[in-house]
Amino acid sequence: MRIAERMSRLGTETAFAVGAEAAELANTGKKVYPFHLGDINIITPENIVKATNKAIESGKTGYCPNAGIPQLREALAKDVGSARGLNISFENVAIQPGGKPVIGKFLQVLMEIGDEVLYPNPGYPIYESQIEYLGGKAVPYGFKETKSGFKIDIDQIERLITPKTSILIFNNYQNPNSASASDGEMQRLANICIKHKIWVLADEAYFDMIYDGKRKSITSLPGMFSQSVILYTFSKKYAMTGWRLGAAIGPKTIIEHISRINVNDESCSNHFIQWGAIEALQGDQSGSLKILKTLKTRRDIAVDLLNSIPGIRTHRPNCTFYLYPNVTEAMAKMKLVDVEEFRKLILYGTGVSFCTRMHFGTPKAGETEFYIRLAYSGIDTDGIKEGLEKLKAFIKKY
Ligand code: PLP
Repeated sequence: MRIAERMSRLGTETAFAVGAEAAELANTGKKVYPFHLGDINIITPENIVKATNKAIESGKTGYCPNAGIPQLREALAKDVGSARGLNISFENVAIQPGGKPVIGKFLQVLMEIGDEVLYPNPGYPIYESQIEYLGGKAVPYGFKETKSGFKIDIDQIERLITPKTSILIFNNYQNPNSASASDGEMQRLANICIKHKIWVLADEAYFDMIYDGKRKSITSLPGMFSQSVILYTFSKKYAMTGWRLGAAIGPKTIIEHISRINVNDESCSNHFIQWGAIEALQGDQSGSLKILKTLKTRRDIAVDLLNSIPGIRTHRPNCTFYLYPNVTEAMAKMKLVDVEEFRKLILYGTGVSFCTRMHFGTPKAGETEFYIRLAYSGIDTDGIKEGLEKLKAFIKKY
């Protein structure tokens, strides 16, 4: 069978493969502790479910406009605009079936074949996949580990810019390492992008998943909104991962082009869910606040337990629901040099299932430290305690 050449350039999200491996193990009767996928085991707030059911019952079951229902576009413009200090309208918003589709559509609209795109690595693996698939050159930039957590390596970004660099993907409040930029770092990045006329995909999937203090978007900085597109999602804040609803938010012309891709791809995002999403934005917020509170409790339990394991150390990030522990010493004690071997040994030995650095982009030459990623969004506190105690006992044996 002849498969088109471009398919050889399409990557995947291997975290799903880890999920399949864990499910297979669970089928054999072994208890599995799911730290692998950024899914949420908390039910969507009741008011959102009710508003969606009402929309179905009242017949909101046909096609709707390609860019989304105007009421949701307007509500999102208000919500996202006020959180970022942006004066935007419904024309700046194109509703999508999830946040993920924004990545490929943004690149289709703005990236020429052969353009260089700076993307975070370790990072969400779909960036690298879509850049290469659509004929661009994926140029990875990294992070530095500091005492307080991970920091985007802006010096490296500056060094990597060439006349062919047209796009920067910036996932502040980062998956997998929860890096967040200070005001100064964000301004420096903005200055670089303005100077070199670089478009920014501001992947803000975790913008609302912040535990304490203020949040900030690069699109709020002077001159930045006109050369940025925000990836917005309902998935995390409202525990709506399986509903598939998000948006591209950016300059009107770009949004019009993205909406033309909507026409060609899915016609429109699920109609009745969009009415539920209006309730999510404008209705009672106690559900989303409770989600954040639950996640914070889980974070603290997981961080304390992980840091009590010899050879493992992790930060206590103020955002996302991911931990990115350094396991270099634990692996040395176990005489392992392959982090995937470490993962498998622990999965089959204890049932604790997590991803590793290998699931977040092709590793770069010269990486000497080993990292794993644990999501605490899909496992309750009892599971976290039981699983990580098992992990501790397992590693202590060496
Ligand atoms: N961007 C990042 C960094 C993510 O981690 C995710 C999901 O995990 C997404 C985008 C896409 O989320 P969704 O398609 O569920 O909205």
